[in-house]
Amino acid sequence: MLPPVDEVLSQKEIENLIEIYPRSIVLESIRNIINKNRQAIVNIKTEEECEKFSLTMEKVIEETIKNVKDEYALSLKKVINATGTVIHTNLGRSLISEKIKDEIWTAASRYSNLEYDLEKGERGSRYVHLTDMIKRLTGAEDVLVVNNNAAAVMLVLSTMAKGGEAIVSRGELVEVGGSFRIPSIMELSGADLVEVGATNKTHLKDYENAITEETKVLMKVHTSNYRIMGFTESISVGELVKLGKKHNLPVIEDLGSGVFIDLSKYGLDYEPTVLDSVKRGADIVTFSGDKMLGGAQAGIIVGKKEYISAMKKNQMTRALRVDKLTICALEATLRMYLDEKNAIENIPTLKMITMSMEELERKANSLYTEIEKLNLDAEIHIEDCLSQVGGGSMPLETMKSKAIAITPQNMNVSRLERKLRLSDSHIIARVYDDKYILDVRTIFEDEFKDVVDELKKAFV
Ligand SMILES: *Cc1c(COP(=O)(O)O)cnc(C)c1O
Repeated sequence: MLPPVDEVLSQKEIENLIEIYPRSIVLESIRNIINKNRQAIVNIKTEEECEKFSLTMEKVIEETIKNVKDEYALSLKKVINATGTVIHTNLGRSLISEKIKDEIWTAASRYSNLEYDLEKGERGSRYVHLTDMIKRLTGAEDVLVVNNNAAAVMLVLSTMAKGGEAIVSRGELVEVGGSFRIPSIMELSGADLVEVGATNKTHLKDYENAITEETKVLMKVHTSNYRIMGFTESISVGELVKLGKKHNLPVIEDLGSGVFIDLSKYGLDYEPTVLDSVKRGADIVTFSGDKMLGGAQAGIIVGKKEYISAMKKNQMTRALRVDKLTICALEATLRMYLDEKNAIENIPTLKMITMSMEELERKANSLYTEIEKLNLDAEIHIEDCLSQVGGGSMPLETMKSKAIAITPQNMNVSRLERKLRLSDSHIIARVYDDKYILDVRTIFEDEFKDVVDELKKAFV
């Protein structure tokens, strides 16, 4: 009643499968299927049940192919982001530009001068590669790049405020994107946190009154993902720098998102750029490599040479060190900033954030036309929607966008959402008001075909 394993193995489809996938996985899969069914046969009690039971060769082949593919697939999979949230922390934050794929592949697959000084023919430092580019773009004296911005803040405080106090405005001590809590990072760094002001208001005199013998640094955190609305007051980095000078204390600014271009030119809210913070005299500025900068995960520290040199000597730096693929992706991404137009056009994060309404309309019309052709049992419209910048960057910043809204007629919308999420293309989209919303801003045009194919399958 059950096909023998050898017979299954000799089937053409299975032979083809073994050419692509490891034989051991195919064999294991066939055995599992047969054993599972053997168990089912043992449990058969009536003749009627026995008649109904049949495990055909076709069924074994079909199940084997499916199981082997599932078994061999990587856990980290490509998904289609139809949420419209550009810097989506759960979906991998910023995307690397296709323009730099050759550079990244070379760095990954060949030896490099990662820690080798070609001029001297001796050991060098991995940190030199990014220094010139970042100095040029930010005007800072020196640079250090670590694993991520949380690590950057920890290293900065551990180097500059360990065993002493760091003064921060209470209103800025907020949770940034779930896992980054400034108070916890401070505790790990060995600095004592002194909170000043009320949640919605902090005056310069609040900082000044808190300064004691123990004070090591004044700190400002850019609360981009949480703006206390209404009657608020916070101290600018310029004012803090003046106060720092008076008391001989360094000022640290955690910018979170590293903006290099004044985005107000492109219709977004003004966000302070790294260059602004450096110009206004912040001694140390930290920011992420994979938020608005649009590069790879990293924490970038820029500022005064004396502090950066001390950080390089901190043993913690060794544990936070940045990988060669990151160095390559960051350097090649930053190089695009030498020409602003090039950066906006070729860095995916910037391109998506500054996408024009005409472009969004064109994309929406094109996707709508293809979906319409399927004659799905659903109501389908092009709708206005709002996309988000995301990633703890400009949280209140929403951008007008266009979406395809689908209301299935004979299926629950959450069932549709689940089907598409678990489909081979893994489409991640929002459900709002019983409508399935595909925001075209974050869907690449070469993904439209997959969206259409999966929708077709989901409705049969
Ligand atoms: C995002 C953010 C961080 C954490 O940065 P990661 O690169 O995610 O570690 C720290 N501070 C602020 C203000 C942020 O917005």
